[in-house]
Amino acid sequence: MIAANTPDTTMTIPTLEYTPVDKIEKIVETVRQGYNTDVTKSIKWRKQQLRQLYKMLDENEDILCQAAYLDKKQSAGEAFLVDLMVLKNEVVDALENLDEWIKPERVNAGLVHALDRCEIRREPFGVALIIGAWNYAYQLTLGPFMAAIAAGNAAVIKPSEVAPFSAAVMTLLVEKYLDPNCIRVVNGGVPETTRLLELQFDHIFYTGNGMVGKIVMAAASKHLTPVVLELGGKSPVIIDDTADAQVVAKRLMWAKSVNCGQTCIAPDYVLATPDVLPKFVSACSAALNELYGEKIRSSKDYPRIIAERHFDRLAGLLSEQLKVPGSKVAVGGFCDRNELFIEPTVVTGVGKDDSANPLMKDEIFGPILPVIEIKNIDEAIEYVRSRDKPLALYVFSKSDKTISTVLSKTDSGNTVVNDLFMNMAVGELPFGGVGPSGMGKYHGHHGFLAYTHPRSTMIRPAGLEKLVSIRYPPLAYSATGRKIVGMLLEKKLRGPAAQTVVSFLKKLPWNLVWWLACVAVGVVIGYFGRGRA
Ligand code: NAD
Repeated sequence: MIAANTPDTTMTIPTLEYTPVDKIEKIVETVRQGYNTDVTKSIKWRKQQLRQLYKMLDENEDILCQAAYLDKKQSAGEAFLVDLMVLKNEVVDALENLDEWIKPERVNAGLVHALDRCEIRREPFGVALIIGAWNYAYQLTLGPFMAAIAAGNAAVIKPSEVAPFSAAVMTLLVEKYLDPNCIRVVNGGVPETTRLLELQFDHIFYTGNGMVGKIVMAAASKHLTPVVLELGGKSPVIIDDTADAQVVAKRLMWAKSVNCGQTCIAPDYVLATPDVLPKFVSACSAALNELYGEKIRSSKDYPRIIAERHFDRLAGLLSEQLKVPGSKVAVGGFCDRNELFIEPTVVTGVGKDDSANPLMKDEIFGPILPVIEIKNIDEAIEYVRSRDKPLALYVFSKSDKTISTVLSKTDSGNTVVNDLFMNMAVGELPFGGVGPSGMGKYHGHHGFLAYTHPRSTMIRPAGLEKLVSIRYPPLAYSATGRKIVGMLLEKKLRGPAAQTVVSFLKKLPWNLVWWLACVAVGVVIGYFGRGRA
């Protein structure tokens, strides 16, 4: 189903109701009881819920887009492209691949264990808590949730209260389409989330800022609960002289304007060499005109800042930066608090020192782009390395040398060369941060892996006691026994050539070799036995 580009404002969206704090424990208990019935582990249930989730997103595209519009004036076209479609594709991918993902992985355990069945089973954790963020409310809440149920977990979903319309619609739809015994939504702000975090979960997935990330991790540590933290940070863009300034400007202005720059992997700042910098900056206005027309403020495609608090922070940062000598607005700069409108803005003359340049202190998370001049790529690399490891890093260059130097000398959760965001369209690329930009990965198979633990499983033949008794005292513990055990089981450090042979031998399918040897022995015995008879 395709949503109309202008949201239908006649649809009724319920007001978001916060869950009473004293009811939260009972809700979590209900979900745990549901999990304890083992229903979520069945493939039938998982597929059924995934199908229902897809149906829910497909049948309600209009109301979901309408909620995104009410929250941040996001057009239905953008909400579909960057939020709903990505999520729907993930659900389809999970349904198409689940049979493969859940298969136990057989381990080749070598000659000594040739008669054992050694495998890794992917087991769900149990009851998962998903704390979503507001900026891509559907994808960031229902995306991890989708991975949780594909992996066989039960789930409690906590949408962000900062996007109240999106949260209200999700609550209504989840209750209508999905299994209420194993899937529940809790709504609210800090008190409600704090209550949730006091309770025991088997897995917590949090998306949002790093400060709250620390609160979540500290709460999880009380129950030793594993966490995935999807955080943010300042994602740099490095542009060298070989890049095509027009192409870079178009791609970058789009990425900085999508969702009004309120994107965790939005380009946060630009490091450009002296030759390309002026060409890039002057191409930015033209790029914005092509994307949104002359009057971006009247464009239905350009969203707004989510709340006054965020608007004030951004407008304050901009005006503080402009007080720094040399800093000036090269593109845009207009802000209107009544409309929560901030024009896509490019600021030049920004310095690298974050104590003197307000825009370089923390993640901007809005449509303001500081541009810093650097002498060469080495300087850009040094600067990126001096800061926290970012969630995303972008490089624009036609030089293979520049690209490989940047890739080998920097680190980031995600990297795209000569474009931005497009990694999100590839389900099999893991998504997540590193260091202060987060821990744990998801999307596609990586989401399934994040929500399961690898259970080591060894199934041995029940008999053959004589064969395995070599390990028992007194024989194994005696001096002779130790020699025999050492000969058979101890691993020896060998020279490189012998190591290659051993590595080759290890790769042989020893259980097959064993069975073939048994068959061969059987045939020989049969043959000679018949001869004697
Ligand atoms: P937010 O305000 O929606 O907060 C996220 C969640 O944390 C909400 O559900 C909220 O209720 C909860 N929360 C807030 N304060 C809390 C507290 N004191 N205790 C417990 N829970 C609390 O989102 P945000 O933090 O404004 O999101 C913006 C940040 O998130 C940016 O830094 C951005 O880069 C990052 N982000 C990261 C990703 C990613 O995938 N890595 C995606 C989106 C946003």
